[in-house]
Amino acid sequence: MFLLWEDFLRSDYRDWRGSGHTEELLDKPDWLEQWLTVHSLPYPGAPTAKEVNELKQLREHILHIVQKLTVSEAVDPINLEGLNRALSSGPMILHIAESNSDFRLDTTPLQTGWSRIGAEVAASFGRLLTDCEPSRLRICDNPDCRAVYYDETRNRSKRFCDERACGNLMKVRRFRARQKAAESGGPSNPDSPEITV
Ligand SMILES: [Zn+2]
Repeated sequence: MFLLWEDFLRSDYRDWRGSGHTEELLDKPDWLEQWLTVHSLPYPGAPTAKEVNELKQLREHILHIVQKLTVSEAVDPINLEGLNRALSSGPMILHIAESNSDFRLDTTPLQTGWSRIGAEVAASFGRLLTDCEPSRLRICDNPDCRAVYYDETRNRSKRFCDERACGNLMKVRRFRARQKAAESGGPSNPDSPEITV
């Protein structure tokens, strides 16, 4: 299962198979409702144009941060400010709960609505930056996909968001390209006329 922020970045949908089909899922209330349900967050109703705009800006901030991290460059302060703005517009109260000597840090939002959702997304991505290894963030090598993921492999070698989907597709593409090159360049193929210089 994907984390809240991972699913959020996937709202900028593009067909990884290369048809060129793209979809802005943040404009689709159905998608938003489903996304929040999966992550056990209340759906605040269809967002206003301003709220959608803020979500799109937040997505851009996160994406820019990821892009910098994948090439080991310093993160632009503007993008961190964007994350912090989203966090401050949906403040939460922290409290520690205990049951049978197990402690848990619970959060209660002070606001409902889309500002709270934006804060949850920023917090979800913030936890990755602070608690995990940001240098493991990757962008899928399939140019038609470019999905963001967290590389959990031991040798940090994961090149595709999904080996069976993008990984296989790229393998097939490379194979076809090699085949084409061999056909046009090799004299062994009876269909292609031999070129003698
Ligand atoms: Zn991919």
